Amino acid sequence: MPSRDLRSALAELADIDHAAKLMAWDQQTKMPAGGAQERGEAMATIERIAHELLTDEALGELLETAGEEDAAIARVMRRDRDRAVRVPSELAADLARAAAEGATAWQRARAESDFAAFAPYLERNVELCRRYAACFPESEHPYDALLDRHEPEMTTAEVRSVFGRLREGLVPLIETLTARSAPPQLTASFPAAEQRALALEMLRALGFDDEHWRLDKTVHPFLAAIAPTDVRVTTRFAEDSLAGIFGTLHEMGHGLYERQVDPALARTMVGTGVSSGVHESQSRLWENLVGRGEPFWRHWLPRAQARFPEALGAISLDEFLRAVNAVRPSLIRVEADEATYSLHIILRFELEVALVEGTLAVRDLPEAWNARTRELLGIEVPDDAHGVLQDVHWASGTIGYFPTYALGNLIGGQLWERAHTDIPDLDERIGAGELAPLREWLGQHVHRHGAKFTSAELLQRTVGGPIAVGPFLSYLKGKLSQVYGLEL
Ligand code: ZN
Repeated sequence: MPSRDLRSALAELADIDHAAKLMAWDQQTKMPAGGAQERGEAMATIERIAHELLTDEALGELLETAGEEDAAIARVMRRDRDRAVRVPSELAADLARAAAEGATAWQRARAESDFAAFAPYLERNVELCRRYAACFPESEHPYDALLDRHEPEMTTAEVRSVFGRLREGLVPLIETLTARSAPPQLTASFPAAEQRALALEMLRALGFDDEHWRLDKTVHPFLAAIAPTDVRVTTRFAEDSLAGIFGTLHEMGHGLYERQVDPALARTMVGTGVSSGVHESQSRLWENLVGRGEPFWRHWLPRAQARFPEALGAISLDEFLRAVNAVRPSLIRVEADEATYSLHIILRFELEVALVEGTLAVRDLPEAWNARTRELLGIEVPDDAHGVLQDVHWASGTIGYFPTYALGNLIGGQLWERAHTDIPDLDERIGAGELAPLREWLGQHVHRHGAKFTSAELLQRTVGGPIAVGPFLSYLKGKLSQVYGLEL
């Protein structure tokens, strides 16, 4: 592409990405099932074109000679491009194919709780991930390259050290809480249409408008930011709990990040969130730190009671908060409470690092999983469907992603603490139903930068230091002390 300038080359890449995101959103919300085969092929073609554009030598030259005004964008793009060109296209194709085959095999294996049927696919994925890691021989640890795909510049050693401190803080806290009887759960029925209406009311308070947003139904909720001006929340509402409300807040948190990126970064590859960890900090902040907090429900509980008079009519704010903040070690990660959630992640991180190192064989994985669940969570795994087969990540070759969920909790805690310093009456504002002050603070300090800074640089600018466990732990202790009426 010799005759074009850098910005138009980047815009072309961003447009291809736009098409890929739209195809993926449609596949999971609107597409009739019969379209799956051809959609898969179309998406693979789009992915190949994106890879060709990114690795094009002319783009490399344009990035080398980028002017001052494009310096930040060029730095990020050079990095992405340098990494992409080091992975042979044959290996990239093998990874994609094995991921698709693995995910299909996993669905069957999980339904039948049959790990042996899945093991060969996982062995293949682990082997390919190790070959991918070998493309970056300068790494200190082979897992570094896999982690870098989702959390650029973070290392295995760093995650290990952060998780060690997190575990030390969480385990005694959870032991204290589980020694007491758990608060009663909400067991009533919550009509889906009313949940959707309530969720939409919350989203509007958060900044959702019909000009730039959509809310659609799906099986596995996700957020699709087709562009900063076209953001799509997906969700599902099961009638036996309010989980869908919290899930919708979660996806909205991802959406706000994309919606508030500086418009000047549109149609570049940095006009999006910087990493999975920072993204998850945004979703989990709105879902949990705001969405399960006392100030939030001071405003929203009366509104929920009006929509669900039978289920919630007689409940007090304290009882409601106890129910939605109950700590109970459980088997399934996606259903875990805020305190035990990170232990599920630590377990997965330890095991996937061992698989990549070669110190754990795939055939020994279920036993290692069950033993570690016993040690960390104090519970027995009844079968592999409720254990090692519960998540799709390893099946689809996504090794190195899990840590970002827990890193998101920690970053969320740091931002929450800092936002309270900058906005001293933040809780009162949330309690009055005003969510704009926090949204604007996040827009100013995190969202507008897109992927211009690494997550470490962003944290340094915003909270003045590296990723830390202290703020999340003290937030959690503070809240659970209040909810459980204990001094933790
Ligand atoms: Zn998320």
